[in-house]
Amino acid sequence: MIEPISGGALRLGDARVDLLDGGAFRLDGGAMFRVVPRALWAPLLPPDDQNRVTLAMRPLLVRTGGRTVLLDAGIGPERRDARFAERVALAAGPPLEDQLAALGVAPDQVDLVVLTHLHFDHAGGLVRADGRPRFPRARVVVQRDELDDAAADCPLCRASYVQDDWAPLTDLLAPVAGDAEVAPGVRVVRTGGHTRGHQVVRVDGGGATLAFWGDLVPTAAHLRPHWVMGFDLYPVEAFERKRDLLGPAVDAGWAHVLYHEPAVALGRVVAAGRGQRLEAFA
Ligand SMILES: [Zn+2]
Repeated sequence: MIEPISGGALRLGDARVDLLDGGAFRLDGGAMFRVVPRALWAPLLPPDDQNRVTLAMRPLLVRTGGRTVLLDAGIGPERRDARFAERVALAAGPPLEDQLAALGVAPDQVDLVVLTHLHFDHAGGLVRADGRPRFPRARVVVQRDELDDAAADCPLCRASYVQDDWAPLTDLLAPVAGDAEVAPGVRVVRTGGHTRGHQVVRVDGGGATLAFWGDLVPTAAHLRPHWVMGFDLYPVEAFERKRDLLGPAVDAGWAHVLYHEPAVALGRVVAAGRGQRLEAFA
């Protein structure tokens, strides 16, 4: 059973999840929707005068089975240079430390960080402004292929990986290959699509399930399987994996977290006209 605690928190049996505020930034709307015409996506995610759409970043804290797990880590706004911050209209959220403290969690109490992938807007928050790991005890779970690609400096993916986001974590990095249970009731499912080693996270508790979709389903507008991003390095795979994983998860009434969704980021998926939307739990 899914038991809402307040706007941004749920209980799934013994597991508790809390949505965090990682701030927001803006990216080109066309790039977010690949071949979908602007006339179709603009009503769902209205662009600004530079054709940029607002994207939130929503890390999730999961406490289950005596383990404290963070899913994705935000952009690390304090480490981004001013020109970049202006180009993407970066708006920092409250410091992650403060948000975790309000939930009774100190940085050294985080046991595990699971990253959907290593792009700067998901991994950037793992390293502090002084270059030290923000969560000094946390093992960082990422797919082995993702780590290899991030380190390879490939021409087409270079812009989205910032070596300083993860290189200082050397001893903490705990790569996995394929699907794995990484904490009691917390599983990674390798999807590829957005990047070769992209993974999503599934949390089970009390007979209920929550899915953390990373960039496989970045916003509610991307619930349509064929609405994939120009940023997806493997768009056909992104479409196929989304089609195969999302449909059954929606039918089964799972809770969903859409990392970049600027409005409702945690909820259940309900029908809306000819499409679907994410509806907050009451
Ligand atoms: Zn992203």
